[in-house]
Amino acid sequence: MGFKTKGACTGCKEILTPGRGEAHLLKCKETLQLLQSGEKLEEGYIIRISWVEEPNVYWMFVAVPKTLALIDLDDFLREIWLECCGHMSEFTILGKEYVSHTYSGSPSKVMKKHLGEIVFEGLEFEYTYDMGSSTYLLLKVLEAIDATPSHQVTLLMRNDPPPFVCEKCKKPAEIICMVCGATICKKCQKKHPCVEKEEATYMLMPLVNSPRTGVCGYGDEEI
Ligand SMILES: [Zn+2]
Ligand SMILES: [Zn+2]
Ligand SMILES: [Zn+2]
Ligand SMILES: [Zn+2]
Repeated sequence: MGFKTKGACTGCKEILTPGRGEAHLLKCKETLQLLQSGEKLEEGYIIRISWVEEPNVYWMFVAVPKTLALIDLDDFLREIWLECCGHMSEFTILGKEYVSHTYSGSPSKVMKKHLGEIVFEGLEFEYTYDMGSSTYLLLKVLEAIDATPSHQVTLLMRNDPPPFVCEKCKKPAEIICMVCGATICKKCQKKHPCVEKEEATYMLMPLVNSPRTGVCGYGDEEI
């Protein structure tokens, strides 16, 4: 990919790259007001979340309360970016692993821990969704804040859809090939080499704004 996406600040609507966005968010008055306008407030953190492979393409900034459990952050990440078929996920924080499910499939208790018990300002930690076709995320605690809405993850900024073009005709792409990763438009899909070779289209998936696009069954229900 090698490009940077931009995204709009939820507070003031300014459109920024992730690097500028980070500096901006820590001093944006509108964002601060937004965070202080919730009914129930508590102390929290601003966290940057990015895709390990291309951190400037898929990224977001969120505010979380210190009492948010890891499982709630896991739910949020699954909902916004990752969930395809209920795979296992895992946070790795200061060398310790917090896994979503035991190997027998029941929810594990370690993810009930609160973020405030584990993380601190400046800490980087990892998250993996799916132990087979894994999607790896890097999270960084940017700053501790005095007030953020309780019991929820507040989205502050998120990358706009990356401007992928069709590998054949260079028009905007709507489809991704699970086999080779090519991005394709609807018109050219039947002539895609993987489709011609297999004489089938099962490998074509809708291109969605997520680091998991084209992986496993992600986004399949939208076809
Ligand atoms: Zn702003
Ligand atoms: Zn899956
Ligand atoms: Zn095309
Ligand atoms: Zn292909």
